[in-house]
Amino acid sequence: MGRTGSRGSRDGKRRRRREPSARPKKETTITTEHGELAIRPRQARRGDHEYTVWELQPGEINKLPRGAVQADVTVQNYGMGGPRLYYLDRATDCSTCGHTFVFNAREQKHWYETLGFYTDSVAKDCLACRRAIRHAKLRSNAYQAALDAVAADPKSGSAQLALAQAIYEQYEHDKRGSTARGIAAARSAARLGMSEGLLLEAHLQRLAERPGAEAHALARFLDEVEGASRFKVLRRAARRRLDELKK
Ligand SMILES: [Zn+2]
Repeated sequence: MGRTGSRGSRDGKRRRRREPSARPKKETTITTEHGELAIRPRQARRGDHEYTVWELQPGEINKLPRGAVQADVTVQNYGMGGPRLYYLDRATDCSTCGHTFVFNAREQKHWYETLGFYTDSVAKDCLACRRAIRHAKLRSNAYQAALDAVAADPKSGSAQLALAQAIYEQYEHDKRGSTARGIAAARSAARLGMSEGLLLEAHLQRLAERPGAEAHALARFLDEVEGASRFKVLRRAARRRLDELKK
């Protein structure tokens, strides 16, 4: 998940106003780019640790620009600069695709209070890129797990099938990996009794842009699973694709 130290001014950061020797007052104010805001101390506890943290006085949120959301400072993980007192929509350029996106106040609240990100971190990627990065990571993990499973038991048809599937997913979505390696795993799976291996081989041959080999694998799949009711849907799709290839 993309995050980084923040740059420039941060919304809702408390700026120290207390004189060092003074005991905490009942309330005080802070100066922000949106004017003076009243804050008050609040007791918080984490594990055995009790501490005082400052929060925005109720009602002060109305002095902020539209869409501002009150923060719960007691559930944040403080980075440098301490708690965030409120959240405001902020526009940023995505570090992956470069498009300007709004890291909105509600998302920020979720980010700092539910997901537990440090208060000095900010989203550096837009939601679509963050999602894509997360999915690519999941595919990479699935590939690693499948490799391990095949290494542990190369004679397992389902492990070979899972590896072929993982390679297919990575190649299809991330343009990573080797279709040849995937095809080898798919064929091993088919030899070990997993008919779906032939279908996966066909998918991988499609990615490798070998229509002849794809059609061959599809025909073998249809041959092998003829009449098997559990392959009804896959059979129909395979037949449709085979017809396309024959055109
Ligand atoms: Zn993006």
